Amino acid sequence: MNMELEPFVFRHEGVLVGMRAWTEAAEAEAGEEALREAVNRFALRPLRREEFAVFTLDLCHNQVDKHFSRFPEEELEKINEMVLGRPLMERHDLRGSLPRGTFFRSQLHREGNRVSVRPEVYVLRTADNADFILNIEGGVYRETSIGFSFRLPECSICGKDIRSCDHVPGHAYDDQTCHFIMRDVLEVIEGSIVSSGSQGTRFVARDRALPPEQALDVARKAVQTPVNVNSPAESENVVPEWVEEARAAMKTHLVKPKDAAQLIQDGVEARRRAIERFCGLGRVMDGANFDESVWRVTLDHLSLREIHHHLEAYEVRFDEKYPPQPVSQPEPLPEEDPQTWSERGMALLKETSQPAPH
Ligand SMILES: [Zn+2]
Repeated sequence: MNMELEPFVFRHEGVLVGMRAWTEAAEAEAGEEALREAVNRFALRPLRREEFAVFTLDLCHNQVDKHFSRFPEEELEKINEMVLGRPLMERHDLRGSLPRGTFFRSQLHREGNRVSVRPEVYVLRTADNADFILNIEGGVYRETSIGFSFRLPECSICGKDIRSCDHVPGHAYDDQTCHFIMRDVLEVIEGSIVSSGSQGTRFVARDRALPPEQALDVARKAVQTPVNVNSPAESENVVPEWVEEARAAMKTHLVKPKDAAQLIQDGVEARRRAIERFCGLGRVMDGANFDESVWRVTLDHLSLREIHHHLEAYEVRFDEKYPPQPVSQPEPLPEEDPQTWSERGMALLKETSQPAPH
């Protein structure tokens, strides 16, 4: 039995490791020329050095992290290639609605056994990006997060897809702690800078917008599947963390299990509408600059609240460009010659003053 399961979209946190200082005096320094060339491969016109800031990120590495997952080195090599040209986003922002920067160069960085992907990103020094750059330079933004999809979360204990075995990441089996190895990376979606205390790494089903029947099914399983029991049929779709998350959410929001399915449907519908509206406004406002496919994948793993924040930014811009019209406007009266009015008045008078016919 080797059934193919849906790929995952995953977020994984990293750190900002530095910025490349630049002064006019540094212009002659080794590497500056190569740096400008590397950046200009992605720019539409040659950029001058003072027009952009450069940051280095440590996006992901080969060690088991606190979520009990790790990348094997060959996947890091792939990510190292795939990240080039991908956007750097600012997450959890209320106003920003466009990517902030572009990954233009990347290398594998080694320190002892630790291998990490260290890409560099350039951010244009535009007025719009000034606060973002300042927040990084000032150390307020120091965490990063990479969004990517991969096909196989391999169990470190038994080697199977961890969704189809009974091992639980973080639990000890004899003296081995179970973790999963992220194999077959398909796509790097974006790298993000996040303000401190990011939402962390977690699984997000690639296609969260399930059709209602399926959403119902998943909800029922989430409610009915006991955490530690993985019958083969159920474990194909549900991993223990999801069940725990669903239960915790129901508890937090005082949702009764019988209402969970309806709420999931409502949530899916609300997300779908918000994303459609966002993309509609994006196309109107930014035309060819609106990278719909990147946005769809990005929004797909944000919460409804985060989607609304992004949507709000577009709505503000849209309202500025096309100010809303008052609902009721004075209706223009038909233009009439004052003469006509007086004539009509006279006619009326004549009519009423005429003696009734005999
Ligand atoms: Zn296993």
